[in-house]
Amino acid sequence: MITIAIDGPSAAGKSTVAKGVAKKLGYTYVDTGAMYRCVTLYALKKGVNCQDDEKVASLLKDIKIDLLVNGDVLLNGEDVTKEIRTQEVVANVSFIAANKYVRLHLVEEQRKMALNKSVVMDGRDIGTYVLPNADVKIFQVASVKTRAERRYLENLQRGINLTKEEIEKDLERRDYIDSHREFAPLRKADDAISLDTSSLTIEESIDAIIKIILEKVGDINE
Ligand code: C5P
Repeated sequence: MITIAIDGPSAAGKSTVAKGVAKKLGYTYVDTGAMYRCVTLYALKKGVNCQDDEKVASLLKDIKIDLLVNGDVLLNGEDVTKEIRTQEVVANVSFIAANKYVRLHLVEEQRKMALNKSVVMDGRDIGTYVLPNADVKIFQVASVKTRAERRYLENLQRGINLTKEEIEKDLERRDYIDSHREFAPLRKADDAISLDTSSLTIEESIDAIIKIILEKVGDINE
């Protein structure tokens, strides 16, 4: 069993690249951000204030998240793949991610997912906290400008109208909250390898990570 942890700030292209790496290696991709987004969506649907930690914690027992192999996300059996990407969820997810009860609950689920199979897991705290013994740890970064540009193009396709300046501000805000929260903040693990994808295409980023994995673990089918 081989575990690959990919961490880094918002919109650094982690999901796309992690998904591609998992596909090439035949491993399971685990999108931990989608799990925080699901809890956020559920709280919003129930009309619960996302900053009320205890109230949000009381919802956890009613939430079942399934991450399907094709990348679709189910929340209590309902396909929420698109809904978890809306601006309303984005605006609230950092509060949910700073909730200690939510983190403990989701981290337990994430560890279970990596128990019996090889995984590529992406998030903010995978190498430092969720899977501290991961075989390979990547810290994927890109400049704020590049990340905003990528998110801008993505938004255009989804029909979301935000200026690049607005996106940059939002990314900086989320980076700050993610890096400064008390519990399991966004941080590069000491043994993680940094990969700056600012000037790399998706394919080049995937290849760069596979090269790192091969160098570190040798046999990827272990
Ligand atoms: O990666 P993605 O942007 O989908 O993550 C959504 C949010 O979930 C992030 O802004 C971050 O606050 C939170 N998150 C986290 N820890 C993880 C994954 C995501 O705090 N392991």
